Amino acid sequence: MGELLPSEQAMPDEQRKRTSELARSVPKQLLIGGRWAAAKSGKTFETVNPATEEVLATVAEGGADDVTEAVRAAREAFENGPWPRMRPHQRTRCLLKIAELLEAHADELAALITLDNGKPIAEARGEVGRTIEVFIYYAGWATKIYGETNPSEPALFNYTLREPLGVCGQIIPWNGPLSMIAWKIGPALACGNTVVLKPAEQTPLPALRFGQLAVEAGVPEGVVNIITGFGPTAGAALARHPGVDKIAFTGSTEVGKEILQASAHDLKRVSLELGGKSPNIIFADADLKSSVSGSAAGIFRNQGQVCSAGSRIFVQREIYDEFAQRLAETAKGIRLGDPFDPHTTMGPLVSAEQHERVLGYLEAGKREGAKVKIGGERGPQPQGYFVKPTVLVDVGNAMRIAREEIFGPVASLIPFTDEADAALQGNDTIYGLAAGVWTRDLSRAHKLARALKAGTVWINCYGMIDPISPFGGYKQSGIGRELGQHSIELYTQVKSVLIRL
Ligand code: ADP
Ligand code: MG
Repeated sequence: MGELLPSEQAMPDEQRKRTSELARSVPKQLLIGGRWAAAKSGKTFETVNPATEEVLATVAEGGADDVTEAVRAAREAFENGPWPRMRPHQRTRCLLKIAELLEAHADELAALITLDNGKPIAEARGEVGRTIEVFIYYAGWATKIYGETNPSEPALFNYTLREPLGVCGQIIPWNGPLSMIAWKIGPALACGNTVVLKPAEQTPLPALRFGQLAVEAGVPEGVVNIITGFGPTAGAALARHPGVDKIAFTGSTEVGKEILQASAHDLKRVSLELGGKSPNIIFADADLKSSVSGSAAGIFRNQGQVCSAGSRIFVQREIYDEFAQRLAETAKGIRLGDPFDPHTTMGPLVSAEQHERVLGYLEAGKREGAKVKIGGERGPQPQGYFVKPTVLVDVGNAMRIAREEIFGPVASLIPFTDEADAALQGNDTIYGLAAGVWTRDLSRAHKLARALKAGTVWINCYGMIDPISPFGGYKQSGIGRELGQHSIELYTQVKSVLIRL
């Protein structure tokens, strides 16, 4: 054994070696019909470590031809394979086996998430844990998908069957590269469908490793197909493919609208989970400490790259300055840096594109008259897409930074006067994904829960997500609800059978 070096010096090199080996060990091809294959075009693309800007891996760039192959494999598995025909109990077992393998490889999967996405390793571990929970939750559903018997006329026996839809195209974003797989594949498989999944081009590695584990778990060939590639090519081909029965998408509102249009051609079933500009409302009577820490987590977790981030923080006038001060202090305590360092609490943004976009919004905010309380600029790191956690004050709800989704660690603080004003300003947005309310007044909390036009309302907490609790958007934040029983409805259709007695 050599000399022990201080851990600060020893870790980065060792870590770099270990993580680059990890990136190397992941398959880089397309998973089609249970086999790994290069793209038909032979094309590849690079995925980058956002903390270092180094290339992590070169991955197959799937195109329309590859999507067609994958859809064919998924169709074959659906029409003739064992998956939709087996005892539901066997599907439960298979989904539990996936969960078990995810658990056994949790550290490695967390490292892949952090490598590709940049979120701090502790957050990545949290994501792996939530992914496992969603698979376990839907494993339980496979045996609990009921039909009805209906009291029809005496001479008729009427019952319903709840049946799978068929081939599901699923397009996911980069902010939850593993958890989004569970939200999509968990319920689709529980119901007996087959899937073609396209991960985001920024974060293909966790999905590829997942594909390998799904095969290991005994998922029959063709049931889970994974096509890495870009949105306008592979994604768009999946969204308009006539062999796809349902398309499920999580991403930007702009692309969601394109997907809905593409689906109209053959009336695919569609579910969309899109952008947000969620109001997080702090009343003067709220517990200040927990409202500050909860609101900070609500906008700074995952570098603010969360569709339901509490990006518009409405603060009642009486406590506006004090809240701003405390939130700024909390932001100051955030450690921006190497996401593999266990002390780091904020990593880089996912890509150069996001980095530019968020810095652009900061400039726009300053031009429109918002004041930087803290942050407001790129991080001091020479490499990587870092942005300092930012608190902006004197923000008006009409400013661009309050209307458009920034998808970065930028809290905009807007004052309000009373309940009515909070609801009015909070609802004054094209989005409706989520909202938060902090108050000790129970009646006010319930009144606002009703008044806010959002798919999820958090009271005295922010960002809690549970597999049993439906999640999705009002207005331009989406169509349909995922998680809970709602996903079972999204991945099945009902058949009514009438028998003359
Ligand atoms: P962002 O701009 O934040 O990356 P997007 O909505 O563009 O969010 O991306 C989310 C997912 O949608 C990714 O997997 C991406 O490849 C895919 N995507 C992007 N554009 C299209 C498109 N035109 N059709 C289908 N999928 C797309
Ligand atoms: Mg885009």
